Amino acid sequence: MRNLSVGIIGAGPAGIAAAVECKANGISNVVIFEKASKYCSTIRRLYPAGKRVDKNYKGEIFQTEGICTFETEAKEDFLLRMKKYINEYNISIEYNIEINGLEKREDYYILKAGTYLVAQTQAVIIATGVFDKPKKPTYPIPEAIKGRVFFELPKEIPEGEKILIVGGGNTAAELACLLSGKCDVYLSYRRPQFFRINEENLRELEKRKDMIKFFLGTEIKSLEPSENAVKVLFQDGHIEIFSKIFYCLGGSTPKVFLEKMGIEFNNSTPKLDEFGESNLKKVFLVGDIAVKRGSIMFAFNSAHKAVKRLIEKYPEILNS
Ligand SMILES: Cc1cc2nc3c(=O)[nH]c(=O)nc-3n(C[C@H](O)[C@H](O)[C@H](O)COP(=O)(O)OP(=O)(O)OC[C@H]3O[C@@H](n4cnc5c(N)ncnc54)[C@H](O)[C@@H]3O)c2cc1C
Repeated sequence: MRNLSVGIIGAGPAGIAAAVECKANGISNVVIFEKASKYCSTIRRLYPAGKRVDKNYKGEIFQTEGICTFETEAKEDFLLRMKKYINEYNISIEYNIEINGLEKREDYYILKAGTYLVAQTQAVIIATGVFDKPKKPTYPIPEAIKGRVFFELPKEIPEGEKILIVGGGNTAAELACLLSGKCDVYLSYRRPQFFRINEENLRELEKRKDMIKFFLGTEIKSLEPSENAVKVLFQDGHIEIFSKIFYCLGGSTPKVFLEKMGIEFNNSTPKLDEFGESNLKKVFLVGDIAVKRGSIMFAFNSAHKAVKRLIEKYPEILNS
């Protein structure tokens, strides 16, 4: 079992930034445990090739607070940037390890993967994101159509199909733009207008307004199997058949996972102080898991704040 100063869970933007901040500030005995086989697995899995990665996201304008930062660029350039951080700061990442247990012992913690004790660590930074748990609709999805209903991008982008995208955020907008021209695209959003979409995505939607059919102010009541397709029944009585449905409703905090670790909640949000420290001493949450609406710059800045606080509040961490 490893003996660490800081054990970080998750090698996304938040986990990598936390490791960079630790290394740059004198904590060298740090390891990230990542359940996938590559860093930034959410971004690799859910962003389409060539996707524009926006610095200012969901209407928020960010100032850089720590070491990690970026300017709006393509997915591939962003991944290279993260690779540079990993190399430059000599970040140690152990892949294919899914941490699902945290145990407090006297003045340190044990990180566990199943029954396997992975590491003994003075402090823990949880940076697991929310996208392993996509938000799903409240109505049931019949078994017969499960192969036609998606919560993330499929490996093969559909062509020549009639597709319904459900959601009103940037992800829904970007997917609608990506598929327009290739498929017959419908976009259903429960509000009468978009309100959280980037200006640039709004412009892209506007450019394609003849290629995308907007169902604004619509709510789906239920889904039913239809011959090689999905029958969608809307609340207003309208019925339409689609070959596939993509839900882009965002992710949700993995409450059970955190509660099992001993993290307390206020309703659906973890109880954290302004630096991301939880009710467990020296256990910080950073990135998407620490906030209602996350973004990459929030992940970078929250990692900076958490590590700075860790060192100020517990200076002994530098000699551990
Ligand atoms: C389609 C889409 C488009 C987006 N576009 C933008 C954009 O343009 N600009 C922007 O700022 N934001 C965007 N976002 C949001 C952005 O991707 C997230 O805010 C950001 O990835 C959060 O970083 P994170 O490190 O907190 O979490 P993640 O990026 O989700 O990383 C979490 C990591 O933890 C790992 N992990 C999870 N559980 C465990 C475990 N138990 N043990 C070990 N490892 C684990 C995961 O495999 C993953 O590698 C977008 C999101 C989506 C889905």
